[in-house]
Amino acid sequence: MDYISTRGGAPALDFAGATLAGLASDGGLYVPREWPRFTEGEIAGMAGLPYAALAARVMQPFVGDCLTPERLLELTTQAYGRFAHKAVTPLKQLDEQHWLLELFHGPTLAFKDVALQLLGLLFEEFLSRGGDPLTIVGATSGDTGSAAIDAVAGRARIEIFMLHPKGRVSDVQRRQMTTVLAPNVHNIAIEGTFDDAQAMVKRMFADRAMTDRFAIGAVNSINWARLMAQVVYYFAAALQLGAPHRKVAFAVPTGNFGDVFAGYVAAQMGLPIERLIVATNVNDILHRALTTGDYSAGTVTPTAAPSMDIQVSSNFERLLFDVGGRDGAALAAQMAGFEANRTMQLTNAQRQGAAALFSSARADANDMAQAIRWAFDASGELLDPHTAIGLHAARAATIPRDVPVVTLATAHPAKFRDAVERATGQRPSLPARIGDLFEREERLVDLPGDYDSIANYVASHAVARG
Ligand SMILES: *Cc1c(COP(=O)(O)O)cnc(C)c1O
Repeated sequence: MDYISTRGGAPALDFAGATLAGLASDGGLYVPREWPRFTEGEIAGMAGLPYAALAARVMQPFVGDCLTPERLLELTTQAYGRFAHKAVTPLKQLDEQHWLLELFHGPTLAFKDVALQLLGLLFEEFLSRGGDPLTIVGATSGDTGSAAIDAVAGRARIEIFMLHPKGRVSDVQRRQMTTVLAPNVHNIAIEGTFDDAQAMVKRMFADRAMTDRFAIGAVNSINWARLMAQVVYYFAAALQLGAPHRKVAFAVPTGNFGDVFAGYVAAQMGLPIERLIVATNVNDILHRALTTGDYSAGTVTPTAAPSMDIQVSSNFERLLFDVGGRDGAALAAQMAGFEANRTMQLTNAQRQGAAALFSSARADANDMAQAIRWAFDASGELLDPHTAIGLHAARAATIPRDVPVVTLATAHPAKFRDAVERATGQRPSLPARIGDLFEREERLVDLPGDYDSIANYVASHAVARG
């Protein structure tokens, strides 16, 4: 399988190349040249596989010749062996129609571990074959940073620089990053918002002075391998609920559109998905785009669900490319317009293509708190704020009664204890596996929110090519 850029102006790469590259050199995102498709019989044959084996089966077509099936299975077994639940991503029933897919049993308590634990191993595997040492530069609104740092801490030939918006991540999130003292981990708190941090990272990918000296890689969801790993749990959940003989709907707390795009990929691969429900908080650019075709960035409003406090959703570009006829030149022009004006209109093809599978809903603080209380009353489950927004959208959607609706539970409630306590009066306790987080030493640097300070810092601490 090879990978092409959504903007049509970068060389095609194989899976290993796309994994190490992150963003394409033309500013686009890598997507597979075509979607692999499983037959109904092949999907039925996946029922009952352990998670690691299912992961290897679902991902093999994307990996192509870059890993043998045996090696891929070794890597998935190692990655998912670190999860605290045997099912890796267990399903819980809330009522007759609604289910939770718990994606937070990894080391840092958010769904990002599912992809990043594997990505860390893929980096190490491909870097051991030669080439330049990797400089990972990322921006986080909280969860990506800790999951990425856990996945690459101490690994050979990788330095990681993680930017987070100072004071805008929870104490648990910050400490999960800053208490990792491995010498290849560099935490940077910047003045500004997540979007400011992300814009600086994007600029670094396009900065020839940096990319000529350093092999800069990505761990955010512009990295194709992350989305690929997330496709697996859509299969895992749907198989348990009767796929391929029965359709399933998913509600997904959405920020950068990575997680829900993985659901779209699962559907392209043949998984019978009734509907993908995009749940946003008041930072609702995606809800507006999907309902009116107007993709216009506003300013970010901080909420209790900070991983969704995003106005520009990188992975939406992948959907626009695919449903818009896979025309890289046209999409490059459309995105250039967006980058200049922070607004664009979806084409009719894009709107209709998206509407065929996606619907959306927006939740404010009150909707979120109500969803937390509803789940607690209905089943005794404590939800984190992101998951609660997903559940709000799930319950607001019109889905036939006989179709199960699975809400992706993207974070452990203990990661956002204050918000959960405000809504329910219950304070979730930290799982034992991260229990001494508040006693550990922290290490980070504070930098102003300007590009040159960041670039200088990275340049003086990273390992150059060659
Ligand atoms: C990252 C994150 C999201 C948003 O996922 P995207 O792939 O960016 O859409 C939702 N909830 C939690 C807890 C997250 O960490």
